Amino acid sequence: MKHMNKFITNGSQGVKDIIQKALHQKRYELFEAEAKQVIQGFGIATPRHAIATSPGEALQAADSFGYPLVLKIVSPDISHKTEAGGVKVGIKSEKDLLAAYEEIMDNVKKRCPSAAIHGILIQEMAASSAEVIVGGLRDPQFGPAVMFGMGGVFVEVYKDVSFRIAPVEEYEVWEMIGEVKGAGILKGFRNMPALDIPAVVQTIIQVSTMMMSVEEINEVDLNPIFVYPKGAIAVDARIILNRP
Ligand code: ADP
Ligand code: MG
Repeated sequence: MKHMNKFITNGSQGVKDIIQKALHQKRYELFEAEAKQVIQGFGIATPRHAIATSPGEALQAADSFGYPLVLKIVSPDISHKTEAGGVKVGIKSEKDLLAAYEEIMDNVKKRCPSAAIHGILIQEMAASSAEVIVGGLRDPQFGPAVMFGMGGVFVEVYKDVSFRIAPVEEYEVWEMIGEVKGAGILKGFRNMPALDIPAVVQTIIQVSTMMMSVEEINEVDLNPIFVYPKGAIAVDARIILNRP
């Protein structure tokens, strides 16, 4: 499988190092930047990013990426960044960037006063599109499994998701997408174009491969993944490790 090759040749050592470092520090949830590096090692696309520890470094990162950008808090104590006031999207200028940097710091200090702050993640902003969620988990009974759902209210309100035990075959992944009612919009809807369902299928297979090959990972949550007419990109990634 071509994505396995990519993992073995490029990503393998990087993935192991990231996980060992986190375990050594007794951190059982990876930072978003680490989680993105792990999923990239399995061939999943993510926006470019850099961690800034000062407004000056944030401006430097912005210079190399260009605008628009997204800013996110980097803290080992904050898992749900939006809830902490730790995400700002649609940053279009240096002025926006400096204001957003300060606002995130203020929000987090107010809402999570005891959280350690390691910096701010400066990230390329992906064009908005239909959102899907792909997850990986370890079921106590069935072992590694994958999950698929549509983003936003579909998952939260309607619990419109499907599961399969890993490792998954491609035909099973098409089935699991077919079981999700909201996934119909990926085929195109009114004036919206058909989206790249094969790219979503690949992402689910890549998460399945990751769950099978990295036993330290307990849970993966790619929420959301933006799906385009060509390609898909994970704009957020959360990885939880098994506790010893
Ligand atoms: P959290 O889930 O921890 O609150 P996310 O990283 O998912 O934080 O960011 C919140 C929302 O911001 C996402 O659901 C997505 O809509 C948007 N977003 C995050 N990162 C990007 C990005 N790089 N490009 C475009 N939109 C983004
Ligand atoms: Mg998210």
